[in-house]
Amino acid sequence: MDRLGKLAGRVTVMLCASAAISGCTQTPDAPDREITNVTGDLYRFREIRHVGMFLVTPDGIIVVDPTNPGLAQWLKNELDERFGLPVKYVIYSHAHNDHASGGEVFADTATFVGHINMRHNLRKPSADAPLLAREQLWDANGNGRIEYDEGNRYAQMAFDILDIDHGGSVTRSDIWESRFGNKLLGPIVPPDVYYSDQMTVTLGGKSVELHYAGLGHTDDMSIILFPEERTIYVVDALTPERLPFEDLDGTFLPEWRDWMRHVDTLDFDIVSPGHEAVGTKADVAEQISYFEDLIDGVSAGIAAGLSKEEIVDTVSLEQYSHMLQYDNWRVPNVTGAYEILISNEH
Ligand SMILES: [Zn+2]
Repeated sequence: MDRLGKLAGRVTVMLCASAAISGCTQTPDAPDREITNVTGDLYRFREIRHVGMFLVTPDGIIVVDPTNPGLAQWLKNELDERFGLPVKYVIYSHAHNDHASGGEVFADTATFVGHINMRHNLRKPSADAPLLAREQLWDANGNGRIEYDEGNRYAQMAFDILDIDHGGSVTRSDIWESRFGNKLLGPIVPPDVYYSDQMTVTLGGKSVELHYAGLGHTDDMSIILFPEERTIYVVDALTPERLPFEDLDGTFLPEWRDWMRHVDTLDFDIVSPGHEAVGTKADVAEQISYFEDLIDGVSAGIAAGLSKEEIVDTVSLEQYSHMLQYDNWRVPNVTGAYEILISNEH
């Protein structure tokens, strides 16, 4: 394993380990990496908990989310062996480094495509850039940086991922590095082609649509629609039968609910997520009602003047207790929604 591969492995393990604290859902006997067919010439490729996709056409292959350097190199070897065709396009779901890194192995043959907001997300903020509104809530002493004891668990994760001494502090630029940076998972190849609302990539008589539905998990998220295969690929923003990740850090509420409603207007049958198993359109309806209940419940608590702790106690979301991570992420989901919604007011 090369140095980048090792680092990628370390981060993947760390992300899985951090999920393991709250119950990692990886099946213990599943291989670490595998390729599975969805339908026709459309496939998923997976490493531990991260899933990307590819579509095979007579003129070459379209890869979505190279994920990390180790997995991308493995995928390239598999594609060469199985199909003997070059990767002509790499499409990004969004700029988070645990899905967007690794593309350099396809750079000699591929055109890279992503949403226009990836451009600013891939630009590192200066060391003295101010904390974002929600991050300021964690900066109890108001010094513009987050000390380990001040941070929520997500901010604390930046200390571990970036190997920063717990006696130190993290800046806006450090938090950016932990999500969008090159330091741990290697370079993210910036898109050659940006789009803003909608775009269609065609190759070898097949097509892939990119749809932008506004703010949600990030501000640069593409919904990838394979119209012939009646399948969408969605990452982090929509995971069938699972709660959204932890404390919703870096995300946008209430807009995420509207993002989910937009997904529902598209024409497809299969939901192929960037984490966990494939689902159906019924899972989108469930996610919409989850976001409605989460946002309405937390907003009502804020309007009634309840504290964060009281809102955590009252917004039980019990009707979703069958979903993955309910026991572990219900509290961080409610806490996160509270912090985001009150930050919007300032
Ligand atoms: Zn993400």
